[in-house]
Amino acid sequence: MRGNLFIISGPSGAGKGTLVVRILKELNNVWLSVSATTRDPRPDEVDGIHYFFVSDQRFDQLIEQNGLLEWASVHGCRYGTLRDEVIRRLESGIDVILEIDPQGAFQVKEKLSDAILIFVMPPSMAELERRLRIRGTESCEQIAARLRAAKVEIFTKERYNSVVINDDLEKATNDLVEIIMTARQAAIEQETDRV
Ligand code: ADP
Ligand code: 5GP
Repeated sequence: MRGNLFIISGPSGAGKGTLVVRILKELNNVWLSVSATTRDPRPDEVDGIHYFFVSDQRFDQLIEQNGLLEWASVHGCRYGTLRDEVIRRLESGIDVILEIDPQGAFQVKEKLSDAILIFVMPPSMAELERRLRIRGTESCEQIAARLRAAKVEIFTKERYNSVVINDDLEKATNDLVEIIMTARQAAIEQETDRV
């Protein structure tokens, strides 16, 4: 049976990365896709673990070679999902998580219609701003741009299969795990019906 594809989006600072680390500890048979990006690494980020940090030229090459399942410009840099890595896992029955923006999420949904889209919401815009400031990985201007982008991204949440509000971290983690377990069970039942 093919693996399930889960796409997690949400405004920068909503807590996607934090939640994904937690759910990966709770679930087996799941792999988090590592995207390519033209953005500079943050001090704690490792090439090949958090992202593949590539030049503009290399990113152009990946597009030309059809190496990306989707890509988008987000906050002034380009980000893309490495196609073969994802398809290979899905075909060998491993569930895959993509943590990507809404533009990318809808591109993937067009190509792989079974993808399950999950949107992570902050409890409020004030809390989103507080989290971005506490994280301290962007300048004041970059934080302002991410908050403006958040308002646009939040409009797309109606097109997602589920919305998780990340207020209490423990509860949001459990909600995400439950969504994934329910989708897995539904896929198994669908497969059983088909046989
Ligand atoms: P994203 O990946 O969506 O950009 P992060 O996972 O980096 O967001 O989280 C942004 C900041 O908010 C981090 O400092 C993280 O520790 C903090 N954070 C995440 N979830 C919560 C939560 N439920 N309550 C309080 N702080 C949180
Ligand atoms: P950050 O710079 O904070 O790591 O990520 C910024 C935004 O880019 C987030 O919304 C994140 O989900 C998105 N992103 C990360 N990787 C990809 C990707 O491969 N494709 C797309 N479309 N967006 C991505």
